[in-house]
Amino acid sequence: MRWQRVRVLYLLPLMSYTFFPIWTGIFKPLPPFIFSHLKFRNTYRVWCSGDCKNINQPENMEQVVADGAEVMVGDPELLQTKISNIRLDGPAMLQVIADFDATLTKYWVEGQRGHSSHGLLQQGNPEYDAKRQKLYEYYHPLEIDPTIPIDEKAKLMEEWWEKTHGLLIEGGLTYGAIKSSVANSRIAFRDGVIELFELLEKSNVPVLIFSAGLADIIEEVLRQKLHRSFKNVKIVSNRMVFDQNGNLVSFKGKTIHVLNKNEHAIDMAAPVHDQLGDVNGLVDDASVKLRTNVLLLGDHIGDLGMSDGLNYKTRISVGFLNDNVEISRDSYRKSFDVVYTNDASMRGVVKLASQLCSM
Ligand SMILES: [Mg+2]
Repeated sequence: MRWQRVRVLYLLPLMSYTFFPIWTGIFKPLPPFIFSHLKFRNTYRVWCSGDCKNINQPENMEQVVADGAEVMVGDPELLQTKISNIRLDGPAMLQVIADFDATLTKYWVEGQRGHSSHGLLQQGNPEYDAKRQKLYEYYHPLEIDPTIPIDEKAKLMEEWWEKTHGLLIEGGLTYGAIKSSVANSRIAFRDGVIELFELLEKSNVPVLIFSAGLADIIEEVLRQKLHRSFKNVKIVSNRMVFDQNGNLVSFKGKTIHVLNKNEHAIDMAAPVHDQLGDVNGLVDDASVKLRTNVLLLGDHIGDLGMSDGLNYKTRISVGFLNDNVEISRDSYRKSFDVVYTNDASMRGVVKLASQLCSM
């Protein structure tokens, strides 16, 4: 009986507010404390910036991350929650982890498949270029073979990478060959990458580019194709050692291949743009590990492993589905929070990042 009286007492002011507009014809908003006791199942607040307007339903989350691109959001409600959580913690807790090839770079360039950072390399020695190509033809089918257990595959990948690195040394790769390979390559960044890096730099958010390729090539691509450097960008990849004549003599540290490129590998990465004299003060290894919210960008489901080694709190994953779209659509939608198809630009990610960084 007592409980019923309490319920009636609670409902009376609510009913008066509900029927007030009908009685008087005048709208009177509910006091804010009422909202704290009610759960609105179909209305979600979305953090918007710029041209993002009137987004009240989770079904419309796709608009939040779209920018003229075809985009899929598997679980709009979950994405909304993640955006709100990251935003509440602020940019000081955020880091961006990005794959390089076909994620930051375009899949198609001038109507042809764009080069990868590994694939663009012409070491100026046709015999060795052919030897590396032979290795690719042998190991690449093993890389994409879903029947090979992951441990076995990791060993094969390590074998492939080490043989390739050995050929690069043996074949006499020079830093000059890297420069000219990049200049002659078919590689281009997605539109919006500069805006994304600028936005994150302004918000002091580090960007870790994880790649199983070669850090020295990626840095050269950044120099030649973006024509500028960013103090918040760090490459976590295989790094070469050149002698004073610019000849490759060895590789630094542990080999990073497709199956171990993750935050465990961060400790061996050296600063980017050191040759440009840019101070890479923002990306400090220890402080990066304390940033427990992640925006992860990749183009393979395996790229989700890039955040392994980081005890993250909230992660928003963005996938670029470049090939076999119809076959892979469902698995990508289940694996990534946001999926872009049709070789989309980075502008949707800029929009998402601007929400995550806005106070
Ligand atoms: Mg990739």
